[in-house]
Amino acid sequence: MDCLFCKIIDGEIPSTKVYEDEYVYAFKDIAPIAPMHILIIPKAHIASANDINAENSSLVAKVFEAAGKIAKEQGCESYRIINNCGDDAGQTVKHLHFHLLGGVKMGWGPESLGRTE
Ligand code: AMP
Ligand code: ZN
Repeated sequence: MDCLFCKIIDGEIPSTKVYEDEYVYAFKDIAPIAPMHILIIPKAHIASANDINAENSSLVAKVFEAAGKIAKEQGCESYRIINNCGDDAGQTVKHLHFHLLGGVKMGWGPESLGRTE
């Protein structure tokens, strides 16, 4: 399948891996927007949050199980998890991924959306 993140999981495209188990792969974002910026992905190809269903939703739980462990390992007790679903939300890679962000004090409000209009 012509999917960037499937290729990363397969090792066809290099990545800086920070965590891997049977279900989940996690690696550093190539263009970090926070001191900790890690992408956590299910190994199974799921195109977006819109494609989560009764058969595959347990993989999302695996992602969140991994997130806490990874953040702790990275020294971040406080963190934010973001999923962009669809073009307007800024999803550029069509393989479900969760941004794990931390290492900085983050704001919360309309400006934190990075609105473009
Ligand atoms: P999104 O915009 O939510 O689809 O997130 C895609 C993320 O993938 C962006 O933050 C990119 O910086 C990141 N990204 C794209 N290509 C790579 C790559 N080869 N290795 C690591 N991160 C990548
Ligand atoms: Zn994929």
